[in-house]
Amino acid sequence: MKNLTEKLREEKFLSREEFKILLAQGGEELHNAAREVCESVFGRDIYIRGLIEFTNHCVQNCNYCGIRSGNKNAARYRLSPEEILSCCAEGYELGIRTFVLQGGEDNFYTDERLVEILRSIKQNHPDCAITLSVGERSKESYARLFDAGGDRYLLRHETANAEHYAALHPAGLTLASRKKCLFDLKEVGFQVGCGFMVGSPGQTLDHIAEDFEFIRELDPEMVGIGPFMPHADTACAGEPPGDLQLVLNALAILRLMKPTVLLPATTALGTLSKRGRELGVLAGANVVMPNLSPRAVRKQYMLYDNKISTSDDAALTKSRIAEQMKNVNREIVIGRGDANV
Ligand code: SAM
Repeated sequence: MKNLTEKLREEKFLSREEFKILLAQGGEELHNAAREVCESVFGRDIYIRGLIEFTNHCVQNCNYCGIRSGNKNAARYRLSPEEILSCCAEGYELGIRTFVLQGGEDNFYTDERLVEILRSIKQNHPDCAITLSVGERSKESYARLFDAGGDRYLLRHETANAEHYAALHPAGLTLASRKKCLFDLKEVGFQVGCGFMVGSPGQTLDHIAEDFEFIRELDPEMVGIGPFMPHADTACAGEPPGDLQLVLNALAILRLMKPTVLLPATTALGTLSKRGRELGVLAGANVVMPNLSPRAVRKQYMLYDNKISTSDDAALTKSRIAEQMKNVNREIVIGRGDANV
């Protein structure tokens, strides 16, 4: 084990078989090595992003997702531009300098509407970064969003295995198209984040090893890894959630592979385990993403069951996370927290 952790640390890559061994056996030694590497790059700093879930309308019907178009039980909402700006203002007061606009793939948000929103946020908060996470769009659309002030874009690749991708998604959604979007985003100039769920139905350790291979090829600035969590109104309702140790092992491997990567301890990880975010940081994560969405709509952006912080306000969510970070000797810093510190 030590050998594999050391090898990964030195060579930044392993064979598929070696990845599988480390994923399965990982544990404390792996997490400690990842934490050391993280500290050597970021010190005790934790970057903070304010998540604004601005629409739960979605034209896609991903098998695992609670806001899939086929879920007729989901009460749909959209935030107005004024509501989005007010979330940003509240986040700014709390010391947040990156706003993440995330939503379903909602055709209401044309390029024109998103451009308008991006410009207004940048006008009010020129010292802040904006991350978009609004799914697959054309390269032209990505370019317009970048030109209007988008800095970063999160688009999880979900799984780098084409058959597994097809099993998780309805016909029409392909891994090839997802990958093309990610490479388009890079070319356009965004800092890019890909990622995947650990424990998604049908996933094997081979698939996760393939994810690492794809991540090496894409070379993104950010990687979002969290556990799959079941949602009652989806085809994946009866599936077990992702395994905590496996998530932590995957985070640690990523940190050793890419020492400077921006790696969040996700809300899903905090939902899977009470100490999930802390454990994520102890395994090499360096980003947290408190929810800035208005309390009134939080329960409606339900990607999976039992999501945490759905009845808290932004200030409480942020102060809870700050406390969790203190518990593991980390400090949330005020700043954009761009890639390549
Ligand atoms: N529509 C955008 C997109 O496709 O990237 C952003 C919104 S989408 C809901 C954000 C992420 O939520 C997905 O990339 C997926 O990995 C995650 N997600 C969806 N359902 C989930 C579940 N049941 N458990 C854990 N994560 C889930």
